[in-house]
Amino acid sequence: MACEKRKILIFGGTGYLGLHMIKASLSMGHPTYAYVRPVKPYTNPSKLDLLKEFESMGVTVFQGELEEHEKLVSAVKQVDVVISTLAVPQHLDQLKIISAMKEAGNIKRFVPSEFGNEVDRVSGLPPFETVLDNKRKIRRASEAAGLSYTYVSANSFAAYFVDYLLHPHEKREEVLVYGSGEAKAVLNYEEDVAAYTVKAATDPRVANRVIIYRPPGNIVSQLGLISSWEKKTGRTLKKIHVPEEEIVKLSESLPFPENVPPSILHNIFIKGEQVSFELTADDLEASELYPDYKYTSVDSLLDICLVNPPKPKLAAFS
Ligand code: NAP
Repeated sequence: MACEKRKILIFGGTGYLGLHMIKASLSMGHPTYAYVRPVKPYTNPSKLDLLKEFESMGVTVFQGELEEHEKLVSAVKQVDVVISTLAVPQHLDQLKIISAMKEAGNIKRFVPSEFGNEVDRVSGLPPFETVLDNKRKIRRASEAAGLSYTYVSANSFAAYFVDYLLHPHEKREEVLVYGSGEAKAVLNYEEDVAAYTVKAATDPRVANRVIIYRPPGNIVSQLGLISSWEKKTGRTLKKIHVPEEEIVKLSESLPFPENVPPSILHNIFIKGEQVSFELTADDLEASELYPDYKYTSVDSLLDICLVNPPKPKLAAFS
């Protein structure tokens, strides 16, 4: 199904997922906009280079803070769709974007920054629960503002977690296995997360719906992932199991924000929360909704890693 061309504004476009989102939007032919924090040339030349690159790619850049309400209203008035890929500490700041969109009154779809578990159907240890709860608050605020929304449950970023679990560029002889290693998780390649999101944000079928990214080729356990990697590399890895109690203890004893990563590992790789509920006929699953889109399976990503492992630049579990 061909998606209509929409003017798409991206918040967080300079970030890890945001860059993929900008590229996906452009590659699908949507007029693409980015709202970024004002850049000081002397303190941040690389950001300035990135913004120049955006402009050369055809992205219209608005510079402003999230606190600048009038600038926000003016920016959102010029577009049809807003996708936010703001980082975790900025999740509640999206209330300011919601307020601007409510005032502007023209936005046809809002995709808030989530890109993880289906927050209305799972829960986690307290540090992760706080992250989930902020996402829920943004969902409820979007609904209260009367916005048309699409909520994206993208599950786990594949390049990031393959790097984290297997360290493919280091040729290590041992790997850590959290818990038994048998719980299943869903690892979706970042490029696909962005492509599915741009498709969903412009698709009438996904208006006021949750879309879940659970392609069959991307459901894998840690042990399955390690075994596939061993077969591809011809090396046997020593598996060092980290017991569940140890992860729980870390989530309880470390200060914020270091307590968040163990609570995420616990949720995804020990509890298997991403596949803890069955999808029903009422659910929208991305690979079913867009069967013509050829996603990169975890197995194909491992093939890519054999030749040129991606090195994700990501704040740990942001
Ligand atoms: P990120 O790269 O850390 O940052 C995204 C953006 O936030 C950047 O463009 C950054 O802009 C902006 N930002 C930071 N501080 C700001 C501030 N004070 N005011 C305005 N903007 C600010 O984020 P990410 O890692 O791509 O995460 C995006 C989303 O994906 C989040 O919702 C996160 O939870 C999710 N995620 C999911 C997974 C997964 O495996 N499922 C993994 C990672 C992230 P500047 O360039 O100006 O700093």
